[in-house]
This record gives sequence, structure tokens and C-alpha cells, in this order.
Amino acid sequence: MDRLVLKFGGTSVANLERIAHVADIVAARKQKAKGLAVIVSAMSGKTNELVAWAREAAGDDLQGPEFDDEHDVIVASGEQVTSGLLALALRRRGLKARSWLGWQVGLRTDGAHSKARILGFERPEFQESVDAGEIAVVAGFQGVDGEGRVSTLGRGGSDTSAVAVAAALKADLCDIYTDVDGVYTTDPRIATKARKLDKIAYEEMLELASLGAKVLQTRSVEMAMNHRVPVRVLSSFEGAVAEPTSGTLVCDEDEIVEKQVVSGVAYSRDEAKVTLLGVEDHPGVAASIFGALADAGVNVDMIVQASSRKAGRQNMVFTTTERDAELTKKTLEKKKDTIGFDELVLERDVAKVSVIGVGMRSHAGVAKTMFEALSAKGINIQVISTSEIKISVLIDASYTELAVRTLHTAYGLDAD
Ligand code: ADP
Ligand code: ASP
Ligand code: MG
Repeated sequence: MDRLVLKFGGTSVANLERIAHVADIVAARKQKAKGLAVIVSAMSGKTNELVAWAREAAGDDLQGPEFDDEHDVIVASGEQVTSGLLALALRRRGLKARSWLGWQVGLRTDGAHSKARILGFERPEFQESVDAGEIAVVAGFQGVDGEGRVSTLGRGGSDTSAVAVAAALKADLCDIYTDVDGVYTTDPRIATKARKLDKIAYEEMLELASLGAKVLQTRSVEMAMNHRVPVRVLSSFEGAVAEPTSGTLVCDEDEIVEKQVVSGVAYSRDEAKVTLLGVEDHPGVAASIFGALADAGVNVDMIVQASSRKAGRQNMVFTTTERDAELTKKTLEKKKDTIGFDELVLERDVAKVSVIGVGMRSHAGVAKTMFEALSAKGINIQVISTSEIKISVLIDASYTELAVRTLHTAYGLDAD
């Protein structure tokens, strides 16, 4: 292989012992790769700790731009530590290696701190060093914006750093090592009957990720799909081998022989439901509600508008992330009179459960199976949304695991 990219997540580099094992894996893989770049996450739990420190230091006084740039400086430090530690562990094994921070590889992003988007790479030295045979250990999750300030790519962003490096190097393969041995039909930690997939189409992986399966960050899949980077997910908790054959390959749809109608079930607990009661019913109302939220940087997901018993009024229900819930409430209540509504009700104890499959495009009755299976367990559906290859329902959060397992069985996904 000419160029290979490997990525190790937080649990894979959780302590010095795990980092030593990662160094063994990297050493084994180097035997078969001329150029090798390794992307690392922070030790597991580290980023959460750093985020909490930043929030505590800022208190309620500093928000938005006054907080965001320094937040990124703080939280990016976790990856700086692991990149240096892995470079040392590799040198101890007699390998040529060095660490690279986001700004050193020239990973340019936009200025949207804490959720920055990658614009490109600007430092050819990095590529030259990889081609010269030195192992590049790159700090994931971080880049540098147009002002020269440190930026971070959103939670789980090291996956995206890895795919971006693989795309820039035109690597033959991008292997994402994590704490499970591949992509499963659903989260193996909540459904013991989840089945490992040998291959999954980019489109399906994109839906799975964006609907909550955190095994790959959504943007990493988007980028892999756009640049046609072959991505494989595999476990770092297995032995160090030069050519692993296990794992799940994320690839083009036509490479998959056996196509299922539904190939996976995902869930997300990071949801909040907002109901606006008695909203004035005239053109421009939706634009004023969602315009105000867009200006405040709130992401909105499912939206349902329904007529109300009151003449000239309607009710609007939508979902947002748990994190944006308070901001949503504040933003809309400030504009209550201009928008024109009676009351805002916020519910946090909701979860979204989704079924995904490219086979849905050509099969009828997929939604019926979902609704019947949930109703048989007494699970009430609050909101429904669909696209060509997925159906999502919003339910009471306490039923999340039951719903996931029920749907997994209903679509015949259970392992024997
Ligand atoms: P890392 O720290 O290596 O980036 P993450 O915790 O971000 O790892 O992602 C791996 C986790 O993703 C697994 O431990 C698993 O619980 C979760 N997960 C959710 N859905 C799936 C799925 N469909 N297949 C595999 N893992 C999944
Ligand atoms: N350390 C970062 C996080 O925990 C990035 C990553 O692990 O991918 O979100
Ligand atoms: Mg991750």
C-alpha cells in the first residue's frame, strides 16, 4: 500500500498501556505501508473534562464569540497530549515518527468555533514527511481558522480529521480503530442481538451517523463519500497484525451484494421537543419562527404544523438538540409578540429512533411494520419524519432501548 491512514479513538488511547498497544498496531501496519499517517483522539473522558473546565471558567457571563475561540484552545489540548505520547511510543520501537498539530499540518477550517468545517490543507511539508517514510502522528479534532486561531471540529471530530487527511494524501484506505469491531445493525451496547455488517453503503452510514450512531462522525462519512475514500471500522482491542481482514468497510452501494430493506436502527437521546400553541396562521409565520432560530444558530430537525381548534391559529411542533433547548426557548419567548403565539412548551425526555435502509426506495410497507411493532409494545409515537431511505419517530425517552430492540427484531435483523 502506498499511503495508509489510521485513526484511534478515545478508548483506544485511554492510558499509556493502551497507547503502547496502539504503537504495536501502528508498527505492524507500517510493514505494509510506505506512507503512514495516524490520527489520534484525546484520552477517553478528557474532552468532557476540558469542556467542563472551560464552561466553569467562563460562567454565565461569557457566551458566543467571547467564549468560543478560547473554548477551542482548551479542548484541543487533549489531542496534543496523545499525539506526542504516541510519537514517543513509536520512537521507542525504533520507528521514525513525529507529532503534528492541526496548524502544523495546515488543516484550515472556517471560523465556526466548536463545530468548524474543514476547508483544506495548506502545508505541503506534512505530505513530504509522510512520503519520506516518517510516521505522522496527527492530533485529531483540531485545525486553524482564517485568523490563525485554533478551531475544533465538533464532538467525534477526529474521525473527520482522519478522512480529511486520507483524502488529502489520496490514501488507499482509512482505517478507523475504535472500541467495537465494526459497524453493527444497531448499537451493540444496547442490543445484544446486533449483527456486525461486513460492508455498508456510504448513504446508509451517513443516515446511521446523522441519526445518532456515534461510531463515525457524520461529517467524516460525508467527506468519505464525496472524495470516495474507502473507510473501514475495526477494533483496537485485538492483536497487532500487518493486514487485518476484520471490520466493516464503508463503500459504494453497488459493491454490496446482499441488500436488506432495512439495514440498521439508530437512536438519539440528544433531543428536545418544542410545541408552540396558538400560533397565528398566516404566510410568513414559519419563516419568522425558524428564521429567528437560524439567526441564533439553533439546528431544527423534525417539524410538524397542525391546525388548532381556535380559528386563525395553528400549533407548531419541532425538535432540536438538548443542548439548544434553552436557547430555543429564550429566542422564541423574546419574539413572542412579533411571531404571535400563546404558549411554548418544552419537553426534554424524548428520544428519536430511526430505521435506515437503501432498500426502502423500492419497498412498500416499511413504515407499517415500524408503527405496528411499536404499538404492540405500547410505545406512543409523538412525531414522525421520513426521507427516501429512513423513517424516524420521536418517543418518550424511557422507551428508547425497548424501541430499538423491538424494531431490530421486527425487521429481521437479529443475529441467530
Ligand atoms: P471512539 O472513541 O473510538 O471515537 P465512539 O465512542 O465515538 O468511539 O464510537 C464507538 C461507539 O459507537 C461504540 O462503542 C458503540 O457503542 C457506538 N455505536 C452506536 N451505534 C453503533 C453501530 N451501529 N455500530 C457500532 N457501534 C455503534
Ligand atoms: N476528543 C474529541 C471528542 O471527544 C474528538 C474525538 O474523539 O473524535 O469529541
Ligand atoms: Mg468517536
